Amino acid sequence: MAIRTGQNRKARRGRRVSRAGVLERFYAGVGTPCPVGCGGTAQAVRVSTTPRGGGEVWLECTSCAQRARYEVPPATPAEKRKVTIAAKAGGEPLCARHAGRVTLRARGRQLFCPECGVVFRE
Ligand SMILES: [Zn+2]
Ligand SMILES: [Zn+2]
Repeated sequence: MAIRTGQNRKARRGRRVSRAGVLERFYAGVGTPCPVGCGGTAQAVRVSTTPRGGGEVWLECTSCAQRARYEVPPATPAEKRKVTIAAKAGGEPLCARHAGRVTLRARGRQLFCPECGVVFRE
């Protein structure tokens, strides 16, 4: 007896990818899909920090120009610790989330990621 559950979900073409899936691709640096599912690729056009210390990323499709806002969860205590240790060791603190190397930037005492907006040191 064949179990078919979940099979339909794999048909990706022309469908919206879940928000979590979009963020996963964003962090992996592999190109994010159009937010309305036109088949194009979206690029980050605006990045900021939310009052909670998380990130806010606007992705815009390069084909149809539709935009969507994605909220990125704030840094976890473990992620913050890793950044603090790297900064104290005198190394370049990197954003803990991207597959590639993204150096954090300072804003006063704060350290934040210029690509996802997340604050790693308050
Ligand atoms: Zn599109
Ligand atoms: Zn980042």
